[in-house]
Amino acid sequence: MMTKIKFKKTGAKLSEKCGVFGVYCSNENVAEFIFYGLQALQHRGQESAGIAVSDGEDILVFKDLGLVSQVFSEQNLAPLVGSIGIGHTRYSTTGRNIWKNSQPIYRMFKDEVFAIAHNGNLTNTEELRKEQMKRGVRFETTTDTEVIASLIESSERDNMEDAIKEAIGKIKGSYSLLILSKDKLFAIRDPHGFRPLVLGDREGEHIIASETCALDIIDAQFIREVDPGEIIIIDKNGLRSQMMLPVDRVSMCVFELIYFSRPDSYLYNKNIFEIRHKMGQELARECPVEADMVISVPDSGTPAAIGYSAGSKIPYGEGLIKNRYIGRTFILPTQEIREIGVKLKLNPLRDVIKGKRLVVVDDSIVRGNTSKKVVKMLYLAGAKEIHMRISSPPLLHPCYYGIDMATKKDFLANHRTLEDIRKYLNVDSLKYLSIDSLVRAIGEPKDKFCFACFNGDYPVPIPENLQLDKYFMENPDYENEVKVSSNAK
Ligand code: SF4
Repeated sequence: MMTKIKFKKTGAKLSEKCGVFGVYCSNENVAEFIFYGLQALQHRGQESAGIAVSDGEDILVFKDLGLVSQVFSEQNLAPLVGSIGIGHTRYSTTGRNIWKNSQPIYRMFKDEVFAIAHNGNLTNTEELRKEQMKRGVRFETTTDTEVIASLIESSERDNMEDAIKEAIGKIKGSYSLLILSKDKLFAIRDPHGFRPLVLGDREGEHIIASETCALDIIDAQFIREVDPGEIIIIDKNGLRSQMMLPVDRVSMCVFELIYFSRPDSYLYNKNIFEIRHKMGQELARECPVEADMVISVPDSGTPAAIGYSAGSKIPYGEGLIKNRYIGRTFILPTQEIREIGVKLKLNPLRDVIKGKRLVVVDDSIVRGNTSKKVVKMLYLAGAKEIHMRISSPPLLHPCYYGIDMATKKDFLANHRTLEDIRKYLNVDSLKYLSIDSLVRAIGEPKDKFCFACFNGDYPVPIPENLQLDKYFMENPDYENEVKVSSNAK
């Protein structure tokens, strides 16, 4: 009998995490810089990649589905001649992963084309989309980015700069935006500063990127972070900055520090690896255990595992080897094939593990499917005891600000005690880092960050139509769909 299986990515339907990179350059080879910048930001989105460049008159856009290295070649980079440009890597959850939804997207303002690349997620998309449709605006995509573009396009202001400022005044939620006109590069960060955005300099040329690791790759110097609520405008006269929106509560996503940003990037002038190392040290202090060896669930758990080892004086070892050359995994319909999914990614070093009492450090647990399989794999490889230590608090609330995160009911920690989770994972002990210790590890005031997925304190109110539990109640089919596929850990 044929079983109908709908494949679908896990997590929220309404968010995306992406990387953006922009250059205002004195030569015509801007596309090459952007290509390398996007490669450095590949971890922020692997579904599509695109570059838009301006030669001062026209804007050319090339984008497609796939990794940066799959989308771009010498042949298709060659025609992208221009001295200003923006690029984007996308991880979609708003709408399908189809070409039309990939970025940069382009629209017209009066008789001039502009292109836009967005990292984040608006919380008032539906409201704005309906308003725009009442005004006769038609949408080609299902993305919130097109809503921003449509607000600029339909503005009656005299010039694009004013139209952009008007549009920004209407949108809510998280956005680190790059906008390219024929002769200007605009960089905008929302007043909460949810997603990172940094300014760099390469021999007088201006670079804007999601993370500092993308500056390093083209030998650009980090200048500073784009401030929450700031708009930077770069043109032939140089760089101008304005504080455009009142900042009442900066709320940078703490998950950028825990997991999303690359460990070699810097935020708040601090290296992300170092912050994660401190999380591990705090974890060792807060959740000690007697054991023979600390191992990580690579790669994301590694800095915290090394920190745990430093804090506990228990030696660190490589217990799991990661295959870095596979892409997404999906939960497949039979148990046997499901088991292969994790083995494709991770393989234990049996001789290292055998007979040991292990501390296994990971950065977070979403559904717990992978953690459970890793534990089983380690026991089969001969581990004597397994003590799971997580360098973040339990995930309990979905993210509406641009991170593809499971719905509330899908979080393993939702409505379960620590003991329930321990039993489910089948480990000897389980502990999570507390919010207070997390803050101590970061070394910045707590009120600078968003912790909503841990404590439900959403810095920007979530409209009812966005609340996913309601969405699921209205869409009973979703549950069946989500059971058969997963990218979650
Ligand atoms: S809810 Fe969590 S993942 Fe989303 S922005 Fe806040 S801290 Fe980041």
